[in-house]
Amino acid sequence: MSSLAADLVNTRPRPADPPEKLTGPDAVAALLEPYGLEPAPVEELREVRGRLLTAFEARDMGELAAALNPLLARGATLRLLPAGWATAAGGSAPGGEAIPGGEATPGGSSASTRWSLRAPTEELSPADRIAVTAATELAALAAERGLDRLRFCAAHDCQRVFADTSPRGDRRYCSRTCSTRMNVRRHRSG
Ligand SMILES: [Zn+2]
Repeated sequence: MSSLAADLVNTRPRPADPPEKLTGPDAVAALLEPYGLEPAPVEELREVRGRLLTAFEARDMGELAAALNPLLARGATLRLLPAGWATAAGGSAPGGEAIPGGEATPGGSSASTRWSLRAPTEELSPADRIAVTAATELAALAAERGLDRLRFCAAHDCQRVFADTSPRGDRRYCSRTCSTRMNVRRHRSG
């Protein structure tokens, strides 16, 4: 399944693929079109991208919250609360909690209920909407399935990221392309 956050992060210059992919309005439109989101200025998207990359690099939920909460604050009523997960009792899935005064349903019966995003009352700028959408996606996945669902491709020369939404959570590569070429390489060396 595709991920807005991962697609955006993967436009960055990488050592394995140095050119900047987010070069202008055409690239922005191509990136956002599948998600039905309005284009935002390139500079603003690159700024959001930097924070999202930090989320994929986070080593614990505290770091993830530090990366995502500023993005969530641009229009969502939910925040990641690492301490909330640590003390979440009775739930099999670690979940986030609504911030005090937030509009999330209190006592939601499932983590996904707690993470449902209320439509903000005020109109968001396109960049804010993109930031909130991408951050919510990562926050919900990490809260419900674990931080390790936010991954870098196992192909060492790739450096793309992906959000593993597979049922078993055992996806290793960003794409079929990487999976295939790594399998070929293993056969040749073995
Ligand atoms: Zn890859």
